[in-house]
Amino acid sequence: MDTRLLPRSPFLTSVGRYFDRAAKLTEHPQGLLDQVKCCNAVYRMRFPVKRDDGTIEVVEAYRAEHSHHRTPTKGGIRFSLGVTQDEVIALAGLMTYKCSIVGVPFGGAKGGVRVDSHAISDGFRERLVRRYTTELYKKNFIGPAIDVPAPDYGTGEREMAWIADTYVMLSHNELNPYACVTGKPLSLHGIPGRREATGLGVYYGIRECMSHADDMKAIGLTTGVAGKRVIVQGLGNVGYHAAKFLQTEGGAVIVAIAEKEGGIFNPKGLDVDAVFQHLHHTKSIHNFPGAQNIATPGEVLELECEVLVPAALENQITADNAARINAKIVAEAANGPITDDADEILRKRGILIIPDIYLNAGGVSVSYFEWLKNLSHVSFGRMSSKHEELNNRHLLDMVEKLTGKSLDGAERQLILKGPQEIDYVYSALADTMSYSYNRIRDAWKSRGISDLRTTAFYLAVDRIARTYLALGIFP
Ligand code: NAD
Repeated sequence: MDTRLLPRSPFLTSVGRYFDRAAKLTEHPQGLLDQVKCCNAVYRMRFPVKRDDGTIEVVEAYRAEHSHHRTPTKGGIRFSLGVTQDEVIALAGLMTYKCSIVGVPFGGAKGGVRVDSHAISDGFRERLVRRYTTELYKKNFIGPAIDVPAPDYGTGEREMAWIADTYVMLSHNELNPYACVTGKPLSLHGIPGRREATGLGVYYGIRECMSHADDMKAIGLTTGVAGKRVIVQGLGNVGYHAAKFLQTEGGAVIVAIAEKEGGIFNPKGLDVDAVFQHLHHTKSIHNFPGAQNIATPGEVLELECEVLVPAALENQITADNAARINAKIVAEAANGPITDDADEILRKRGILIIPDIYLNAGGVSVSYFEWLKNLSHVSFGRMSSKHEELNNRHLLDMVEKLTGKSLDGAERQLILKGPQEIDYVYSALADTMSYSYNRIRDAWKSRGISDLRTTAFYLAVDRIARTYLALGIFP
């Protein structure tokens, strides 16, 4: 066996095992499967960043490009003290499979910087991001056609704006420099809907899963999100938006929320926006009015609910606590929240797992739309929105004339109004999540595969292998 392909960390081990389980179901030769599995390139950096007091900190950072079967490669940048080379490789691999699952034509990548995102100053953060971008640029690890970063744990629009600005300064004369990164602010060539895309996609994915009566009956649930008890771990970008849409659009009851320092519980439901404000003002989730404090985030995961949504980090549900998970569905909003041994325990207990490589793909889907917008230099709908409005007006006038009835002002406005850019983004995201779920589910049922995760990996591995074959790399 080629030892270079052997994984080392528990997270990378889990991803490798998920891959192997699915790869066995394909008929592709082992060499081709090894190529689909391995990480094509990793750039490990150490560079100096000046602290606010003038002293120097040497920062460790990575960018892994997992698969060049399609370019550019794509994936977020994480700021966390837990960043290691293995973690970045595992996350980059998940990006490759995720893009394939939702039909986004990119290879997978991921960046990581080993810093405590909560502890660094704004000045240090900006110097760090600009230096990291320059390092990537020097080695050809960033560019609209090469590798396109996005936000992940500990980063957001502000960091993406600094990356874009640094890249623009370095790349004179390039036609599409803003397509070098996605998740940018709207005022800097971003796209409406990107901020909430991952969490909204998580909601769409859970909604789609829970709409299948047979599958819900098999786990003792009725269909629909409305009225179901949901627990969310991590009230960051993904967790906050997932919880908010599950509550406001889906009618779910958010009974508990966990953050780093512990959690809160209220069987009658928590107002997600109010909890979010409380967290930001008091810097702790504890002591939210009307809710019971829970000492550790781990305890929150074990409370009774219908849907558990881990939205923080990997390795949260392990062989140690899997037997105590009290949910019917675990919806993986985070990347890799369940280790592979815990995955087996949960499945044996009849718990349905909606896998990360499908469920949190809303972010990369809308990033794809942002990249397309940056390449075309025009917002979605600019050429068609008014035309659609005029068409609607003609049609409505005709219907009113033929029927002799007319709509009131508000109804008329609803039909006449042409779509805005956000409408295109939301509808394309909803369609992506719905279509992709049903593609996985159909294969799961028709091929008799054990679970959704293995099926999603199987579809991704098979599609990527076929792309390599079509490229003629393995004649
Ligand atoms: P974020 O930094 O915005 O939020 C993460 C939150 O989790 C923070 O509020 C943090 O305090 C909290 N947290 C950390 N450890 C915790 C613990 N042990 N228990 C409870 N809460 C804890 O990060 P994010 O962008 O929301 O990313 C969360 C997860 O979603 C990561 O796994 C990331 O890879 C994945 N993801 C993010 C995106 C995206 O678009 N941002 C896309 C796909 C997947």
